[in-house]
Amino acid sequence: MSKYFSEKYKALAPYVPGEQPKDKKYVKLNTNESPFPPSQKAQEYAIQAAQDLNLYPDPDCTLLREEIAKLYNVDKDEVIMVNGSDEILNFAFMAYCDKNTPAAFADITYGFYEVFAQINNVPYKVIPLNEKYELNIDDYKNLNSTIFIANPNAPTGIAISLKDIESILNANKDNIVVIDEAYVDFGGESAVSLINKYDNLLVTQTFSKSRSMAGARLGMGFANKKIIQDLNTIRYSQNPYNVNRMTMAVGIGTIKDNEYTIKNCETIKANREYTVKELAKLGFETLNSSANFIFTKNAKVSGEYLYKTLKEKGVLVRYFNKDRLRDYLRITIGNMDQMNTLIEKVKEILEESKWETLKLKEKQKKQT
Ligand code: PMP
Repeated sequence: MSKYFSEKYKALAPYVPGEQPKDKKYVKLNTNESPFPPSQKAQEYAIQAAQDLNLYPDPDCTLLREEIAKLYNVDKDEVIMVNGSDEILNFAFMAYCDKNTPAAFADITYGFYEVFAQINNVPYKVIPLNEKYELNIDDYKNLNSTIFIANPNAPTGIAISLKDIESILNANKDNIVVIDEAYVDFGGESAVSLINKYDNLLVTQTFSKSRSMAGARLGMGFANKKIIQDLNTIRYSQNPYNVNRMTMAVGIGTIKDNEYTIKNCETIKANREYTVKELAKLGFETLNSSANFIFTKNAKVSGEYLYKTLKEKGVLVRYFNKDRLRDYLRITIGNMDQMNTLIEKVKEILEESKWETLKLKEKQKKQT
């Protein structure tokens, strides 16, 4: 840290993204990306857009918002486009949290919420999930806070119902409730249909997962027009050109080719069910996932050992060395080849650790 770094950021603990090692080619199941490339149509749109990169992009993202509005059956003024949904989550912390209105979120959820609270210097309440790693809906009533809920949650993959979301919205009428739907296309129920029923609802989504565009950085928010206006005030005060021309073009192409996204989501869901079943045969217990990842543990091997040994064998998964999480691995669902490699490597590790245990037992016997 330099001596010039502002006092206000000195204690900041930044978000740690999943590792992107360059030492060898891994089967990469650690950052919840899509294994499928962006749609062909979307790629063609990007090539065209590259020709106009001498010009600033449309700060209103009008064409893209129109396409999204058609698809989601909302008004285009109920949509805001952002540079990945991380950006709109930060905007929501800026717009709706302050010393009188803290943020509130689960103890086990998307790690960036805490970082956003810290960088914006707002107080926050951390609400523990229950022993089954589920949200206790009653804990979210009358909180007098801006509430952030990932649905499905990360890293658990567990989703809550629209009925539960409605009861949270009803019990916090004076506060904004942000529903982060980064993974909703893999089996959750979207709350976008509720934006005109509840004026305290903001729904965020991303093109990074189901739409194969993590590298392009595109996200969006859905809410009533007044909320979208608030968020645009922040956006225009920070970076009106937050969505670049190529990303906007790929976004339009992706929405026009929505069948491709739907097909890919179906494949991921089928691969998820397959992986859960195969891992169960090997003694894994997996939380009920509605996302493009699973959260799973095996009583016989520690999460850390599995993570490290899988990495040595060329498979990268995510491990969180934190209370209540350290027994588990978060594994992104990829294509069938990737999942079969994962399963094969896990089998090898279990087999090897069986021999290790036997060898250790023999050694102990000899010593006694
Ligand atoms: N919300 C959740 C729950 C996430 O896991 C992620 C991805 N890390 C995001 C939001 C942000 O995704 P992006 O900025 O790529 O849209």
